[in-house]
Amino acid sequence: MRTSLRSGIVLALLAFCGGCICAQQASAPAPKRVAVRAGHLIDGKSDTPVANALILIEGNKIVSVTPGGSAPAGVEVIDLPNATVLPGLVDAHTHVLLQGDITAEDYDKQLLKQSIPYRAILAARNAQIALSHGFTALRDLETEGAMYADVDVKKAINDGEITGPHMQVATRAMTPTGMYGPLGYSWEIRIPQGVQYVDGAEEIRKAVREQVMYGADWIKYYSDHGYFYGPDGVLHSHVNFTDEEARAIVEETHRIGKKVAAHAIGSDGIAAALRAGADTIEHGDGLTDPQVEEMARRGIYWVPTIAVGAYVANGRAGNWPKMVETEKKAFQLALKKDVKIVMGTDAGGFDWRGLNEAKEFEYYVNYGMTPMQAIRSGTSAAAELLGWTDRMGSVEAGKWADLVAVSGDPLKDIAELQRVKFVMKGGAVIKNELH
Ligand SMILES: [Zn+2]
Repeated sequence: MRTSLRSGIVLALLAFCGGCICAQQASAPAPKRVAVRAGHLIDGKSDTPVANALILIEGNKIVSVTPGGSAPAGVEVIDLPNATVLPGLVDAHTHVLLQGDITAEDYDKQLLKQSIPYRAILAARNAQIALSHGFTALRDLETEGAMYADVDVKKAINDGEITGPHMQVATRAMTPTGMYGPLGYSWEIRIPQGVQYVDGAEEIRKAVREQVMYGADWIKYYSDHGYFYGPDGVLHSHVNFTDEEARAIVEETHRIGKKVAAHAIGSDGIAAALRAGADTIEHGDGLTDPQVEEMARRGIYWVPTIAVGAYVANGRAGNWPKMVETEKKAFQLALKKDVKIVMGTDAGGFDWRGLNEAKEFEYYVNYGMTPMQAIRSGTSAAAELLGWTDRMGSVEAGKWADLVAVSGDPLKDIAELQRVKFVMKGGAVIKNELH
C-alpha cells in the first residue's frame, strides 16, 4: 500500500518534471545575435590587420568574421569604424587578492590586518578593473594567504554574480617550511602564511591533491628566494625544494592532468625548475644563455613580468634595480631564440589602481618585440599557455566573443593598449567609450 502510494508520487513528479523540461525547451529564446564592425581588426593570428571587418556574434561566441561583409537583416550592429579591434587581452600572471607589496610591511599588513572576506571583496574589484582595461582572461597565480578565495572569485564571475575576466587559478602555492613570508615574528604567535608549507614528497603529493580538490587549475610553487649576483655576473638564488620534492610537485600535478607554474628569478631557481619539469617559468630575470636555449628547445613558456620588476625596483632597492637590466638582456636573447614568451604582469605585486597591466606590452616592444609579437604574447600565445586555443586568443568563428577596441593604431603605438575604449566579454558589452 505504502509502496504503491510512493511510486504514484514518484510517477507524478516525473510527469511534472518532464513537463517542465518540455516547456523550457519550447520557450527558450534564440541566442542573441549582434555584429561588431571593426574599422581595423587585428585578429591575433594574421600578420596584418583586416580592414572593415564584420564580426557576427551569436550568444557568447563568434559565428563569422567577414572582411567588408554586411550584417544580416535585423541584427544590431555595433559600429566602430575608426577603431582597431583586437581579441580580449590575457594577463597570465596576476594576484587578484593582493594590493601591492613593494615592501614586506605592505605584504604583512594585508595578511595580518585584513580578513580573507575583505580581501575577496577587493579581489572582485580588481577583477573588474582588469576587465575594464581589456583583460578578458587572467591566470591568477596564488592567493598570498587568502586560501582558496580565488576559486570563489572565479565562481562568482562564472555564475554572473560579478563581472570579471575568465580565470584560471592556482589557489595557495607551495614552499618548504620557512621559505616564504610573513617571517620574523615571535614563535609564540601563530600568523597566517603566504603559501602552503609542504615538506617531503608524500606531503607534497597530498597538498597537490588537496589544492586540486578545492579548485586549483594550476599548481604554483616557489622554486627560489634570496637573489644575489655572483662573481660570474650571473643572478643567483637559493633553491627552495630538493630536486626530489620539486619533481614530486610536477609529477603529481601532471598525473592528475594539471600544469605547474614555477616562480624562479635566479639562475639556480630556474635550473631547478627546468630539472623538475615545470611548464611555465615565472619572472626568470636571471635566465642564462644555456637556459634560454633549453626553454626554446623544450617549448617551456616564459612569463617575464617586467612591469612589476620596474615598479618595485626603487622601493626595494638592493639588487632589484640591477635585476631589471639583467632581465632585459635575458628577454632580448629569448626573443632571438624563439622562446615562447607569454604576457604576464604580476598585477597585485603592484596596486591594481596604480598601473594599467597593459604597460607590460610597452616594455616588450621597447625590449625588441614588434607590436604584433607583443599583441600575440597577450592573446594567441597566452591562449596556448592556458590550454584554451579552442575558445579564445583570436577573433575567429567558434571562439568566445571577447573583444577589445582602441581608437588609435597599436601597431604604431603599443601604449594604445593602455587606453582600451571598448570591451566585450562573451558577447556582452562591458564598456563602450567609442560613441
Ligand atoms: Zn606573482
